[in-house]
Amino acid sequence: MTLQTASNYKAQPDTLKDRIILVTGAGDGIGETAAITFAKHGATVILLGRTIPKLERTYDAIIAAGYPQPAIIPLDLEGATYDNYLEVADTIEKEFGHLDGLLHNAGTLGALTPIQQYDLKMWAQVMQINLTAPFLLTRACIPVLKKSNDARIVFTSSSVAHKGRAYWGAYGVSKAGQDNLMAILADELESNTPIRVNSIDPGRVRTRMRALAYPGEDPNTVATPEEIMPTYLYLMGPDSKDVNGQIYHV
Ligand code: NDP
Repeated sequence: MTLQTASNYKAQPDTLKDRIILVTGAGDGIGETAAITFAKHGATVILLGRTIPKLERTYDAIIAAGYPQPAIIPLDLEGATYDNYLEVADTIEKEFGHLDGLLHNAGTLGALTPIQQYDLKMWAQVMQINLTAPFLLTRACIPVLKKSNDARIVFTSSSVAHKGRAYWGAYGVSKAGQDNLMAILADELESNTPIRVNSIDPGRVRTRMRALAYPGEDPNTVATPEEIMPTYLYLMGPDSKDVNGQIYHV
């Protein structure tokens, strides 16, 4: 598949006005910045994650800036059951009536280890958080996404998804699986729903995960989360209404 780009996209200040957007992993790194950026462009964001003080930090930043009041949904994607995801969808439907955007951003690195030594428990944990959780959350949210006039699902890919790389183990497999899940959903939802489904490969971004994967790297040599937001705004907003089943790289 050819990777697309929208790095130079210039969003209108109110491009996400009145949209309801759920962001997973909204308390740190790319997810935190995406949530604040979506709110800055008019969205009401639903902040989902496992560490409540971090979600509260994002919430407080949005309120302090005078953006639309967000909501917090604490959820650990590792332990959540399908009933928990149905509750999330139900809460959104009761509070907002519909959902216009779902950013699957939360993720975990696992360990950079040869397959022969890959820890079995860690394999299951990474697959649960990075692949099964997005499947369960998407499955539960499709009905409330269908209630939108113009909805988006955005997955978070990685360079190790497009081409297998030594030692990336469960992380690489889970991201390749996410890309395929994205493509399946895009195909299934294209003709009879208002939902468009795409992935973003954010490239090298200055976050806790990047520092874990590359401890010797000078963080100043990689992009900040703010710098990659044009692609997120494009794929979450109205200008991408004819884009479906694509992977965008930043
Ligand atoms: P961070 O580690 O900064 O953020 C990851 C987020 O996922 C955190 O909010 C974290 O919550 C959340 N999360 C992890 N496990 C769970 C869980 N069990 N339940 C709920 N939330 C969880 O990493 P990034 O911001 O870098 O990563 C964001 C996405 O971008 C990931 O999908 C990653 O794979 C992808 N990516 C990042 C790249 C980079 O260079 N940074 C490159 C390519 C892809 P908490 O803080 O509470 O742990």
